[in-house]
Amino acid sequence: MKKLCALALVVLLGSTAATTPLQQVRRFRQANERALLTEFGQLVAIPNVAADTANLRRTAVFVQGMMQQRGIRSQLLAAPTPGVAPVVFGEVKTPGATRTVIFYAHYDGQPVNPAQWREGLSPFTPVLATGPLDRDGRLAPLPAAGQPLDPNWRLYARSASDDKAGIMAILTGYQALVASKLKPTANLKFFFEGEEERGSPHLAELLARHKALLASDVWVICDGPVHQSGRKQVVFGARGDVNLGLTVYGPRRPLHSGHYGNWAPNPALALARLLASMQDSTGRVRVAGFYDDVTPLTLA
Ligand SMILES: [Zn+2]
Repeated sequence: MKKLCALALVVLLGSTAATTPLQQVRRFRQANERALLTEFGQLVAIPNVAADTANLRRTAVFVQGMMQQRGIRSQLLAAPTPGVAPVVFGEVKTPGATRTVIFYAHYDGQPVNPAQWREGLSPFTPVLATGPLDRDGRLAPLPAAGQPLDPNWRLYARSASDDKAGIMAILTGYQALVASKLKPTANLKFFFEGEEERGSPHLAELLARHKALLASDVWVICDGPVHQSGRKQVVFGARGDVNLGLTVYGPRRPLHSGHYGNWAPNPALALARLLASMQDSTGRVRVAGFYDDVTPLTLA
């Protein structure tokens, strides 16, 4: 998603230069790739698993520093519930702009067991590889200063893609615009969450508490998989999930078919019927009220 996010920033620009904004952003990236890679290496080296609240906060403070270095006014947004990883929020106001776009990514990562990490490697010690390690990629040292970096190379560490890459791409995209003297046509806001991998249990209260600050026309969520073909993609809408606890009651001991067959309720079958009844054959949810707060897509 990282290239996509930078691209999304670029399309918000009025293009007045002889070269396109995309070309200018690419030039900035090429001219600064070593410094950017170094910064990204520092970002992914900070542990960011859900249970490690001290390091999650360190990550948030580091991301806030990245914003400040790029001249973005930033703050940490706390949730009403104490102890929740803060949102790193940034804002760039554009004089005369009538639209506001929020860029979303998350700085927390999935749980990781270092013992299951590839032998000799550690989740929060980033390493470079010449390609995918599960194919023909091999570990490689950083090329000598002045040597260009091969764009096919990869940086391996926990969250190097999901989703610290989103943060890096968004902030670098903005940095490239500033360096290229390109002016956005919209107000920009940045919202980097720290609980996504836990299911964002406090996101609703964070959004409610900071409603005025987070007013916007559209969110660009930079946290999705690359298309299987590797091509960039923009998807309208974001899929979420709904969780529920369900208890199914059944007999406490095995029931002999001669006594109970055919008439004793079978909990497995009842559960199968219940689950199957929740969706029709096209995938549409049949639970009453499920779509009540969904705004349908419009043509424009
Ligand atoms: Zn993610």
